[in-house]
Amino acid sequence: MPAPDLDTIVSLAKRRGFIFPAAEIYGGFANAYDYGPLGVELKRNIREAWWRSMVRERDDVVGLDASLMTNPQVWVASGHVANFTDPLVDCKSCHQRFRLDHLEEGIYGEVRRDASGALRCPNDGGELTEPRQFNMMFKTQVGPVPDEASVAYLPPETAQGIFINFENVVSSMRRKLPFGVAQSRVSFRNEITPGRFVFRTLEFEQMEMEYFCRPPKDRANPEEYLSLYRAWVQERLRWYTDVIGIDPARLRLREHTREELSHYSAGTTDIEYLFPWGWGELEGVAARTDFDLTQHAQLSGHPLTYFDEETNEHVVPWVVEPAAGLTRTLAVTLLEAYTEEPDEKGDNRVVLKLRPNIAPVKVAVLPLSKNEKLRPTARRVYDLLRPLWLAQYDETQSIGRRYRRQDEIGTPLCVTVDFQTVGEEGQPGDDAVTIRERDSQAQVRVPMAGLVEALRDRLGGC
Ligand code: ATP
Repeated sequence: MPAPDLDTIVSLAKRRGFIFPAAEIYGGFANAYDYGPLGVELKRNIREAWWRSMVRERDDVVGLDASLMTNPQVWVASGHVANFTDPLVDCKSCHQRFRLDHLEEGIYGEVRRDASGALRCPNDGGELTEPRQFNMMFKTQVGPVPDEASVAYLPPETAQGIFINFENVVSSMRRKLPFGVAQSRVSFRNEITPGRFVFRTLEFEQMEMEYFCRPPKDRANPEEYLSLYRAWVQERLRWYTDVIGIDPARLRLREHTREELSHYSAGTTDIEYLFPWGWGELEGVAARTDFDLTQHAQLSGHPLTYFDEETNEHVVPWVVEPAAGLTRTLAVTLLEAYTEEPDEKGDNRVVLKLRPNIAPVKVAVLPLSKNEKLRPTARRVYDLLRPLWLAQYDETQSIGRRYRRQDEIGTPLCVTVDFQTVGEEGQPGDDAVTIRERDSQAQVRVPMAGLVEALRDRLGGC
């Protein structure tokens, strides 16, 4: 099925408690969103799936949570203070401000040019100012006195926290090369381009890993290092298809050209997704060589090396960095999962076909109707399941409408308690309930004693 348009997802996300525009009662706040009760669960589940694949299931990667507020020298060494800039232009007639690269990419609408080929304002064709460089880091102040010494920055990425802890991790965890350090935290960028929902926001969450490798003997010919980099590109692509469930037809790899690469980089590949407006980056996998460790060693005066027992020398590891956007992946997860199809009666139903590991609510307990006889048993089932999975209990409106509601939030399974379960008119009940599957809409009756096992099987063990 083709991906839905963005408005459909934005409206479902709001209606069903996934994502709300920030500060709506004050008229909103550009490029900022709040995650609702289901959005926060979905976000946690995606992060957890990443952490599992990157840290728990591997024996060569460990985790970290570095302070967001840190010494500003970190951002000097990383190059962000000097170079984390975008070129901005203003329209001389309507005074709207644009990012030059986004203007050229047509992100603001039709690309307009004058007869000489110079770019013009996409709104009114007005003349544009010369580009000015604008740093995307948010600056703030630590302590009461606003002077140069109190300047601090909100982190525009999570990677630097890993580099500056390199030595701490090596000495405390006794790691051997190659090994990785993974971190998932919030990042901030002063984005001036109108965002497309949570695709581009001021505050967003990233999932990054620095994989420290043995440096090549020949800098010009780092074949072994490049093969680790290529393996990570494939591994990350696999994660999106096999773990998150993204259609491979809407994913592609885009290798950066020589001109796009920074001077220190040995290669970068973007994992791109076909958004409703075209291809866009989901994750960048970068071969960053020894650039960051060398920069931090130089500026801090503290050598950041690894003692290689095989060669008996101190070396500066080379790094492969898969840097993914958690909140951007969440937007893609919703786009991918959204399906419209006929229900049991042939009416249209909206289903979020989220993988069970990602779905916020795993199971809903639904008494067939709002009835005093059904409620105690249904509540008992709900109590039984709640410690195991995020479950919902719902007894209002018809059972069909309640199925629709669960379909729309992507709940993989519903458990229905009916009069056969509890017994009627003096007859004993059969102590069995109905499991209804979201995708097939199939219903099977299972004895209550085997319910947890039956659900666990269908949830793929999650
Ligand atoms: P873009 O070109 O789209 O601005 P980028 O190349 O600057 O992205 P990176 O610095 O490589 O992005 O960051 C890694 C990942 O973080 C991106 O692939 C994306 O998923 C996510 N990301 C970056 N900026 C934002 C943002 N403003 N809002 C949401 N996610 C973001």
